[in-house]
Amino acid sequence: MSDFVRGLKCRMCGKAYPKQPLNYCEDDFGPLEVDYDYDAIREVINRGKIEMRPFNMWRYRELLPIDGEPTVGPLVGGTPLVRAHRLAEALGVETLWIKNDAVNFPTLSFKDRVVSVALSKAREFGFTTVGCASTGNLANSVAANAAQAGLNTYVFVPQDLETAKIIGTTVYGAKLIGIKGTYDDVNRLCSQVADRYNWGLVNVNLRPFYAEGSKTFGYEIAEQLGWRTPQHVVSPMAGGSLIGKIHKAFHEMYKVGLLDREPRTKIYGAQATGCNPITSGLKAGQDSHRPVRKPNTIAKSLAIGDPADGYFAIKVMRETGGFGEDVSDPEITDAMLLLAQTEGIFAETAGGVTLAVTKKLIDQGRIPRDEEIVICITGNGLKTQDAVANAVEKPIIIRPNIDDFAAVLEGQPEPVLV
Ligand SMILES: *Cc1c(COP(=O)(O)O)cnc(C)c1O
Ligand SMILES: [Zn+2]
Repeated sequence: MSDFVRGLKCRMCGKAYPKQPLNYCEDDFGPLEVDYDYDAIREVINRGKIEMRPFNMWRYRELLPIDGEPTVGPLVGGTPLVRAHRLAEALGVETLWIKNDAVNFPTLSFKDRVVSVALSKAREFGFTTVGCASTGNLANSVAANAAQAGLNTYVFVPQDLETAKIIGTTVYGAKLIGIKGTYDDVNRLCSQVADRYNWGLVNVNLRPFYAEGSKTFGYEIAEQLGWRTPQHVVSPMAGGSLIGKIHKAFHEMYKVGLLDREPRTKIYGAQATGCNPITSGLKAGQDSHRPVRKPNTIAKSLAIGDPADGYFAIKVMRETGGFGEDVSDPEITDAMLLLAQTEGIFAETAGGVTLAVTKKLIDQGRIPRDEEIVICITGNGLKTQDAVANAVEKPIIIRPNIDDFAAVLEGQPEPVLV
């Protein structure tokens, strides 16, 4: 299917490598990236051909790095782009969209996109045991997709994760290893595991392939807008990969002839103040991120203190004319409620981060109120219910009796919507 991958290439020095499970350049430790033959891709794809395919991420298969048919996660992607009228009104902006991966199949986060590519590739490389280092959602996705693919799975996480993300991993039969330490400790251990046991760890030795799956989030946004890009996109950042891949996706679409105009989208990154290595580096005018030793935020899925792609994330925000901001835990909770009560979308803490940062950037005047904005919602609130548990109304308990209910109604003011 895809003769379009030439191999891997170092993002620092450009050195070429053959297709293999390797994520770092041997000369300078720069991250490796998939190298495509875009001229050949341009020859074979066009809008009509893509539109005839099923609406999932694999309709952009020529721009994804697997050789054969996808064997893992063939139905991932194809999530709604929601025109958010009530939220737009609440924020005081004209045109607002939500790309909603809170309903991505099968594990309700955008991580299913990266995992389907990584595990399809893992099978092509012949791995029978796979795994990952995760802040939660990746764990869920690797466990579910590997179960469907019949692969053995070891998942490594910081031991203090949300219960829903733990059960949402072990239910699929994956071995879950909780590490007494931060995500960065988990990640370091996983590099050693990949080396010693020759396993396919999706965001370690398979990372160049894995990361490409995120591009489909961007392809879908542009296609759903009618084959054009918005003026502003706000993306959450953990390792800093997704934000760069959305940018890359838009430019690839132009390069292969799917967009008429060169994208000029300004890209903004969102973090929690309790773990803000990328936004603090950006705001301090640094080229790269400022590592956070001990992350402390309810947005656990974004709590990576030393992000692998921090440098590239800052570059994308700066070069596109975007910016980055971070928000406190109470702001995150408020934004989760605002999204739920204006648009009926229950996003996880990461969604609260992205919306709260969007609001902040609008209030700062960095995002103009009359221009088109897309907010990236990447995970589902059912997995992080503790974040809002104390901020929502308790149910009113009565006897099964109409007078009891009437008394409740009389004693209650009208529900106030935000
Ligand atoms: C992993 C994750 C992100 C960010 O991913 P990176 O590509 O590592 O920056 C955003 N939102 C959610 C819900 C995630 O699980
Ligand atoms: Zn290099």
